[in-house]
Amino acid sequence: MLMIPIIDLQREYQTLKTQIDAAVGRVLASGSYIGGPEVSALEAELSSYLSSPYVITVASGTDALFIALRAMGVGPGDEVITTPFTFIATVEAIQHAGAKPVLVDIDPQTFNLEPAHLESALSERTRAILPVHLYGQPAPMREIRAFAQQHRLLILEDAAQAIGARYCAVDREPGRMAGNLGDAAGFSLYPTKNLGAYGDAGFITTSSPQIAEEARLIAAHGSKMRYHHIRPAGYTSRLDALQAAILRVKLPYLESWNTRRRHIARLYDEGLKNLVETPYQAPYSYHIYHQYTVRTPERDRLLAFLKENGVGSSVHYPLPAHLQPAYRDLAPQGSLPESEKAAQEVLSLPMHPFLEDAQVEQVIETVRRFFAA
Ligand SMILES: *Cc1c(COP(=O)(O)O)cnc(C)c1O
Repeated sequence: MLMIPIIDLQREYQTLKTQIDAAVGRVLASGSYIGGPEVSALEAELSSYLSSPYVITVASGTDALFIALRAMGVGPGDEVITTPFTFIATVEAIQHAGAKPVLVDIDPQTFNLEPAHLESALSERTRAILPVHLYGQPAPMREIRAFAQQHRLLILEDAAQAIGARYCAVDREPGRMAGNLGDAAGFSLYPTKNLGAYGDAGFITTSSPQIAEEARLIAAHGSKMRYHHIRPAGYTSRLDALQAAILRVKLPYLESWNTRRRHIARLYDEGLKNLVETPYQAPYSYHIYHQYTVRTPERDRLLAFLKENGVGSSVHYPLPAHLQPAYRDLAPQGSLPESEKAAQEVLSLPMHPFLEDAQVEQVIETVRRFFAA
């Protein structure tokens, strides 16, 4: 029995080894290890790829989110509306900005924040909405933007899982890149993300020169000129040159990798329909399948069966934020029922651009055997 891992980063490295080793060697020889020309070049290349005027690299996706919030002026006394069905960093970022997370439930079909619930979460203190483009599918930004505009709220996108995803106003239009759908966005370049560094990394996008300038100051000790500090409570969150050089090798492959993920998703959709609930692709979205996440009431038994049969899988996420021991004060159990139910039923299957069609077939076959038994 051949094991099928959920993701295969060694395979990716082997494919790009010559280029990556050369890039790493170039940085090691350069004597410039934090910031510098590799980092500036990466920021320019990301800016061009995402059509986003300003790109500010930082040390992680979590940093990108909380620095962006602070740069937008969100702070103590403010409330930020977000989803409980996300990686915990989304909620942590709001706390690190000094603001209060207010949770609203998800749409059970897309697992993204349900805009119809925004009204009930609104208060005099609401400053911003933080939608997550979960699993690589953009949140319903048309409705979220309309609500934000009506109530003069800021929008920060959590685009950690959505690099290269598009939001299309009209079906199948080329669409606007995730990261350009609000006032600012935070991206993660964690190794397992669709574009991953070989360590921690992240970046902020914005079209606002003010937010960009504030974010750069916060990430660099409130300083533009060395040893001159013009903004209080600065922080240190920088990208190192090694990561930038590695990311510059990978970025040109990202579109084709995302295309490959979409192809794999179509194979799974076809092979798994009638067995599990396959991911819903909203008409407005160009989904980049950071995760291929299915839904079934048999989740725990299927998870165990896949494990016994050498198929990697994972639960994103087993507990919504408000059921985490650290965050029970955010909302009572039972108050966000769709998130709570999703947490019991979702399962992510192997998904990465180096997964072969034959491996996809083997995963499908294994799921079939489970349901036949
Ligand atoms: C990965 C991730 C983050 C955090 O990114 P790090 O680079 O790990 O700090 C934030 N939000 C979501 C939805 C993520 O998936």
